[in-house]
Amino acid sequence: MSVPKVSKICCIGAGYVGGPTCAVIALKCPHIQVTIVDLNQARIDAWNSSDFNLPIYEPGLEDVVRATRGRNLFFSTDVDGAIRAADLIFVSVNTPTKKTGIGAGYAADLNYVEKATRRIAQIATSSKIVVEKSTVPCRTAESMRVILEANSKPDARFDILSNPEFLAEGTAISDLVSPDRVLIGSLQTHEGKEACKALSEIYANWVPQERILTVGLWSSELSKLAANAMLAQRISSINALSAICEATGANIDEVAHAIGKDTRIGPKFLKASVGFGGSCFQKDILNLVYLSESLHLPEVAAYWRQVVEMNEYQKRRFTRHVVDTLFKTITGKRIAVLGFAFKADTGDTRESAAITIIKHFMEEKALVTIYDPQVEHEQIWMDLQEVSPTFTLQQIKRQVQIAPCALDACAEAEAVVIATEWKEFITLDWEAIYEQMSKPAFIFDGRLLVDSAKLAKIGFKVSSIGRGAEV
Ligand code: NAD
Repeated sequence: MSVPKVSKICCIGAGYVGGPTCAVIALKCPHIQVTIVDLNQARIDAWNSSDFNLPIYEPGLEDVVRATRGRNLFFSTDVDGAIRAADLIFVSVNTPTKKTGIGAGYAADLNYVEKATRRIAQIATSSKIVVEKSTVPCRTAESMRVILEANSKPDARFDILSNPEFLAEGTAISDLVSPDRVLIGSLQTHEGKEACKALSEIYANWVPQERILTVGLWSSELSKLAANAMLAQRISSINALSAICEATGANIDEVAHAIGKDTRIGPKFLKASVGFGGSCFQKDILNLVYLSESLHLPEVAAYWRQVVEMNEYQKRRFTRHVVDTLFKTITGKRIAVLGFAFKADTGDTRESAAITIIKHFMEEKALVTIYDPQVEHEQIWMDLQEVSPTFTLQQIKRQVQIAPCALDACAEAEAVVIATEWKEFITLDWEAIYEQMSKPAFIFDGRLLVDSAKLAKIGFKVSSIGRGAEV
């Protein structure tokens, strides 16, 4: 068998990964027809919207979709039609942490991957390369192979590849256009290697050959979990040090700078914060914990679990510091929370630290006003309801408001909490904000974003993560 020719690609799942990833493939490979499908009609409608009101916010994404949509990029709910036509199918569906049952709270819910795989088997009438794009536990490709082979039609045969996605939300397009690496895992059989070459050739349209890594299937699957676990571990490590800084008067920025100068460590991802969020870090570490436990490696499981526990501790520690500083009670006090997304340059709120912090504030009976430049108001209400099931929406709305701008959010507040590192917060009119606030006016910088000396000069009492006695 020679290298399969790919002229039509289908991507199952039009989310944060499937959408941008396949839009960039369409941009870089005008000779390939790319169809992104989803069961969620509203999501597909948004991708197809005439005013390009796309379902996700990502810098540069709109330009890519404008350049390709209707040319060689299509969005559709016709999952079966796209599967039938495709030579290569990305499975880019969600793999959230299981909420109930065996492995609840740790294991990945593979229900969506299995359903998509079964659909491929039922529909395909010719050979397909099936690519795991979703982040999955090690050896999931094996389950996919069994499902595909058991349900396939006579003329269909399948090669399975793992091609995990390493993009970061907020920089997805630049990450996709010039990735650090593209990882492709395949079985080391002749057919597996040929399928791997077919996918490599697609990426080779814009990714330098030395950045396209080809490895075994299981290494590829595990590498994705490992990469996220190591990134999150760095954040938990610097956050653990930030607690020591606050207790001793050391400054976490100075410490991070000093250790980051060591070329073995490097300067990136050493920013202390209120804690990591996003749909992936926690989920993928918990997945690794579950995998380790399933493999009877309890010490390994405990090691990775601690990364998540440190993250939860950091959020609790931050809230406690706010309460202690505001004279040990925040009952009835107004706190402005600037930022609700889990990081800047995205509207995604999944596992955002802001949600947990606001939940704690609500439990302390504070009044909270939220401002975020990207997050939809409906999403904020949904997140707060989900995180506080004992509160009705009415009760939540008695304690929480959403403001149209930062200045309004801070009116009559006793404290401002910076929860997301949106650049626009740096250049706010802090003098005007100070004038509007109750005094003493506190700022809790959970992202080490603002110039604390400048704000202190205005009159604020500034308290930043990982910096000792500023207040
Ligand atoms: P998402 O929830 O935004 O998108 C998944 C989409 O798949 C949803 O729109 C859902 O409706 C659709 N879907 C589910 N089952 C389907 C089916 N059978 N047929 C058609 N559509 C179906 O998720 P996401 O953030 O894009 O993540 C997808 C995968 O990529 C996950 O495994 C995630 O861990 C991984 N990942 C995410 C990121 C990230 O930054 N979000 C980065 C790297 C990897």
